[in-house]
Amino acid sequence: LPIARPRRIAQSIERWFARHQRPLPWRDTYAPWRVWVSEAMLQQTRMEVVLGYYARFLARFPTPAALAEASEEEVLAAWSGLGYYRRARMLRDGAIAVVARGGIPSRVDELLQIPGIGRYTAGAIASIAFRQKAPIVDGNVARILARLESIEHPLGTPALLREAWSHAQTLVDACSDPRAFNQGLMELGALVCKPRSPRCGECLVRALCAAHASGRTGELPRPKAKPATRELAIALYLVRDRDGRVLMRRERGKLMTAMLHLPHGDDSLLAGAPLEVRRKRLLGTFRHTVTNRRIEFSLFEAELPPAVRDDDGYEWIDVAKLQTLPHPSYVAKALKLREALRPA
Ligand code: SF4
Repeated sequence: LPIARPRRIAQSIERWFARHQRPLPWRDTYAPWRVWVSEAMLQQTRMEVVLGYYARFLARFPTPAALAEASEEEVLAAWSGLGYYRRARMLRDGAIAVVARGGIPSRVDELLQIPGIGRYTAGAIASIAFRQKAPIVDGNVARILARLESIEHPLGTPALLREAWSHAQTLVDACSDPRAFNQGLMELGALVCKPRSPRCGECLVRALCAAHASGRTGELPRPKAKPATRELAIALYLVRDRDGRVLMRRERGKLMTAMLHLPHGDDSLLAGAPLEVRRKRLLGTFRHTVTNRRIEFSLFEAELPPAVRDDDGYEWIDVAKLQTLPHPSYVAKALKLREALRPA
């Protein structure tokens, strides 16, 4: 009997992964905590960036218990620079929950009970750490499956995701080792079935790929309509006291909350009120992108008016100690700009 198509696809991907996988740090022991941390970091963040943080974060928090015992501030500081800080808070909440229940569960339905673990991460932990036949679908997998199975729905639509989850389930059911198959699918997306120009000539599932058969690898998946990028100009103020410490504010709004920010002028993405300053002097400008907003920051050296209220979360911060305190990357950029301008 000929082997069914899903089985042939799954086998090809498993074999390809065994030969071509990259040696990544979470692939050494496949300990559930190491897999979980890697998945949390890799969401929305490029692999090369994650590799600069992963080992240090795990050395600091080698177990869920270590993370659960740390303060939110310590966790955010270790995450500083990785962006999307909600992930760090959710990872800590999740660690607290698994400590309370006595360990990281192996099944998808149990994993879904843990705060911060959604369908993708539950599938990744269950399959990669525990070798359960659980599917995973993220943007990467949805792209490969849209080509492999010729799915016409545009990227980012619920209809594409629904079909992709269903195909991913069929394929993982047909595989021999879910750890190898799911990682192989992701790795194929990263190295071969790339977003812009898939390397079909090197692809082991080429003979089984619907988009390749119909010559439509450049058309699928169909792109999604992008929200327009918004331009924004934000003034930042560098105010120092006699000891050279810098005035900073802890944000309490929805975006980048609990992190330290430089005071800003009238326009900001943050919830805090603008700071009134005097004797502004422009030091320089830099650009920075946050989701779909392109921001031009202008950094001013400034002084405080004589009577400024000591509320709204302002603190004097020693810049040398900032590395151990949670702050977003645009603040690091602003301080670097200041550093570059300082006379030798
Ligand atoms: S043949 Fe091309 S489009 Fe199809 S899965 Fe392989 S790399 Fe992707």
